Amino acid sequence: MEPTAATERKRDRSPAPGDGASPGVETFEVHDPTDGSVIETVDVASPGRVAEVVARVRGAQPEWEAMGFRQRYRWLGRLRDWMFDNADHLADVMQAETGKVRADAELEAPFICDAINYWGERAERFLADETPPSHNPMFKVKRLRITYSPYPVVGVISPWNFPLILAYDDAMPALMAGAAVVIKPSEVTPLVAIEIARAWKEEVGGPDILDVVNGAAETGGALIDEADFIQFTGSEKTGKSVMRRAADTLTPVSLELGGKDPMIVLSDANLERAVNAAAFGGLANTGQICMSIERVYVEEPIYDEFVAQLADRVGELRQGRDDDSFKQDLGAMTFPPQVEIVSDHVEDARQKGARILTGGKRKDGAGDWYEPTVIADADHSMRVMVDETFGPVIGVMKVKDADEAVRMANDSSYGLSASVMSRDTQRAEQIARRLEVGAANIDDVLTNYFLQDLPMGGWKSSGVGFRHGEYGIKRFCRTEAIVSPRFPQGKRDPLWFPYKRRPRRAIAAVFRFLNARGLRNRLGLGKRR
Ligand code: NAD
Repeated sequence: MEPTAATERKRDRSPAPGDGASPGVETFEVHDPTDGSVIETVDVASPGRVAEVVARVRGAQPEWEAMGFRQRYRWLGRLRDWMFDNADHLADVMQAETGKVRADAELEAPFICDAINYWGERAERFLADETPPSHNPMFKVKRLRITYSPYPVVGVISPWNFPLILAYDDAMPALMAGAAVVIKPSEVTPLVAIEIARAWKEEVGGPDILDVVNGAAETGGALIDEADFIQFTGSEKTGKSVMRRAADTLTPVSLELGGKDPMIVLSDANLERAVNAAAFGGLANTGQICMSIERVYVEEPIYDEFVAQLADRVGELRQGRDDDSFKQDLGAMTFPPQVEIVSDHVEDARQKGARILTGGKRKDGAGDWYEPTVIADADHSMRVMVDETFGPVIGVMKVKDADEAVRMANDSSYGLSASVMSRDTQRAEQIARRLEVGAANIDDVLTNYFLQDLPMGGWKSSGVGFRHGEYGIKRFCRTEAIVSPRFPQGKRDPLWFPYKRRPRRAIAAVFRFLNARGLRNRLGLGKRR
């Protein structure tokens, strides 16, 4: 594909390969959150190094795009097979750097294998040329076509909570679209992303269109400067910095940001299911999911029973360092400063009169641990009900009825997703429609993320754009509208120079006939009353 002005601009800014690496390379340490020990030291990619990597994959991208969908799927299919064969190894790497339990760690590689198949089998159809008919009969003589071409280099900046899924879930549609991808994983948990990029090169022998650059804000900023499209997943605060930085080069961004997801429990809900759903939705991955259930609104008649059962259920959960025997339900917190935030939210709620029914404190000993916690009688004066906690804490509030529940659920700057628990699916769906969120799960939690078929993205401060579904791949493409003649062309069209009164008036009359409403009006025979 010919370079565009925009890619030329980005190219001009990139040094030739080899120019970038600084002699004294900086490094950072990756820790095991279960005990704080150092597990690996990783080189920081300087801005020069980032430019070099982007220039390199940019050089290989045209061939990747030209090989077509089937061939690209063949390559990614080999990566899928490698991931299935090495799922245990990948889970080990992830457990070490995140402190996750096995069940949470093992989820990630198969999810990406499914994503590879989803995009591999649909990308060609999703990105096929479209030929919409003209809405205007005057243009029926034209053939209209929309084409989709990938941004040459997509930069993916990802967070620490799902280091494999959130690095590669967006990379896969970008790669299937024909883009090259450079991932900047979280500096807290870069190892699994590095390992997959290594496998792509060394085990799969894939083309040089996928790489990882490591570091923190400076490295991420450099990737924004160099890439042609940025997919960012992370906090609201960083998302705003990313958007500001991208404005300098007019680089398009898609932002998947934080959440404060509510669950509404209606009085006709299957109580036991609602309790189990709240415990799982709130505490899976130690509550470190953007879509974690962080606040629960329960209708008055079942409130006391709900909080009592939830406290029991959460009190039974096992927390500790896991191996591959699935002996724990909750692991450590991955990012040490997050323990401080969780602790602040719980103390704030305690001081303002909420009841801490179970948990409510850090665990003693080495590492970053916080007990699974249920807070009853919470309200919106408390940070735990309004700010993102991103830890193993569930706040529960009593509401008079469904209307109050909807009002409270919408009283948030975030709008990622929500759950409505009820036996009456139709009523729950009506309630879901009133929620200001990008996704709603009826009588369920978290499930929408696993459905690649559906758009996943947030309203309000939860993001800009969507991943998954047809749009999830189209966002990595530029569209081109091509207008062609259907029939042999004359020397000139009636609209062209020289302007003449009669043909212009004739065109105006036809235009009016087609677009005015009512026969008299179409014929210009007087105003309608
Ligand atoms: P973060 O915003 O601190 O960091 C995310 C990434 O951005 C990291 O790779 C980081 O190094 C990089 N970064 C930091 N400063 C940057 C800058 N100035 N320019 C470019 N890159 C920069 O987020 P985190 O703490 O890693 O992740 C937790 C947050 O992510 C939570 O708010 C959570 O809700 C959100 N999240 C959202 C989704 C979603 O799909 N909506 C999914 C998972 C996590």
